[in-house]
Amino acid sequence: MTDSLISSAYSQALEVIASVEPRIAEATRQELADQRSSLKLIASENYASPAVLMTMGTWFSDKYAEGTVGHRFYAGCQNVDTVESLAAEHARELFGAPYAYVQPHSGIDANLVAFWSILANKVESPYLEKMQAKNVNELSEADWETLRHEFGNQRLLGMSLDAGGHLTHGFRPNISGKMFHQQQYGTDPETGLLDYDAVAAKAREFKPLVLVAGYSAYPRRVNFAKMREIADEVGAVLMVDMAHFAGLVAGKVFTGEENPVPYAHLTTTTTHKSLRGPRGGMVLAQEEFAADVDRGCPMVLGGPLSHVMAAKAVAFAEARTPAFQDYAQKVADNAKSLAEGFLTRGANLVTGGTDNHIVLLDVSSFGLTGRQAESALLDAGVVTNRNSVPADPNGAWYTSGVRLGTPALTTRGFGHDEFDTVADLIVDVLSNTGAGTTKAGGPSKASYVLGDGVADRVTSRSAEMLDKHPLYPGLVLS
Ligand SMILES: *Cc1c(COP(=O)(O)O)cnc(C)c1O
Repeated sequence: MTDSLISSAYSQALEVIASVEPRIAEATRQELADQRSSLKLIASENYASPAVLMTMGTWFSDKYAEGTVGHRFYAGCQNVDTVESLAAEHARELFGAPYAYVQPHSGIDANLVAFWSILANKVESPYLEKMQAKNVNELSEADWETLRHEFGNQRLLGMSLDAGGHLTHGFRPNISGKMFHQQQYGTDPETGLLDYDAVAAKAREFKPLVLVAGYSAYPRRVNFAKMREIADEVGAVLMVDMAHFAGLVAGKVFTGEENPVPYAHLTTTTTHKSLRGPRGGMVLAQEEFAADVDRGCPMVLGGPLSHVMAAKAVAFAEARTPAFQDYAQKVADNAKSLAEGFLTRGANLVTGGTDNHIVLLDVSSFGLTGRQAESALLDAGVVTNRNSVPADPNGAWYTSGVRLGTPALTTRGFGHDEFDTVADLIVDVLSNTGAGTTKAGGPSKASYVLGDGVADRVTSRSAEMLDKHPLYPGLVLS
């Protein structure tokens, strides 16, 4: 029954859209067809459920609701209050967090909210106290100048981008690298693993206000008890950005010291990656920071996306089920199968394996850059993204690695055998791809030559698996 409901709901929605702008209806159909027929290994992507997707397509999108539950700057927010309270309640229960803020529109927004709440909470300034006492008008222009100086001179220590950290963890071209004095920690050059002693040494020397843990491209678990110890020793706030692995926390794969929520002062996340919800962000906080995080709007955010908060509530309800725990465990198991598949075929992995949802393949042994590998794989219907490896000789644009993740294909039902085959297909493509030349005949980091027949061979082998594990089974568009 549900299948036919979903099929007719989407078919009719597309007809409504087509009556206004048929090209958008067509692109929407095509996107489904493309997602269905490609091997999606992008580690930050997933497939949200029809219930989550449908929740985003309603009139909640039309409502302005700046403020917080029960305290809005607009009238008529009673239903948004229901939605936001429920999403926050599910989030607190799901993650065991004292406080949850579900308004951030994205992972980057969640991090900005967290940064500002740390500054508001920790920067000691008589001017700030005046400001918070709402005596803003008492501040002179000179007071504001002092305040800007105090706010603008804080220190942040985060994981470097090429070791697997995120842009928002102090990377120079990102605002986080400009609003803070930043330093970065990396990984051990030999093992590729996080070296807690080295992080501690850096923290002792630099004395950051904020220590950021979390990653986008590190294929290993992190011990957050150790990170908290380091933060405590130097008096820093520990902020953990679990954008990538929130699904593994929600699904109780990361427990004890691998679960950041009890150890971090603030935990930020996206909701659309391994957590499999709508595109969005969230901040979890210890009580001490709750009031400052609550000021995310108007500090950093405008009106919340009420339709997305509704979809977060639906996704969190899904994530609280045993079925989701089963899913999360499979995501981690499948990453192991994928890694083993590469290792038995002689490929090199950063850190030599994985214990989360990410596998970082070093493609230099195939004589390729990440850029060439990514393009050749795409020609064969394998969707990945190139990624730097530690101390990458090819820089952040061409890179020497390809990042792979298991959350999306695990949602389709792929298991051990399929992921072993995926490794086989990728090795097949890469070992049959040569580096190309520039127009002038020199070596190129971008162009490549894919061997004859490889794309067809790989596409037909992956089509077999994709047909066996359909995306949105039962959804048939008329
Ligand atoms: C993806 C990601 C973000 C940003 O999320 P957006 O929703 O794209 O803004 C932030 N931090 C980490 C660690 C991420 O992996």
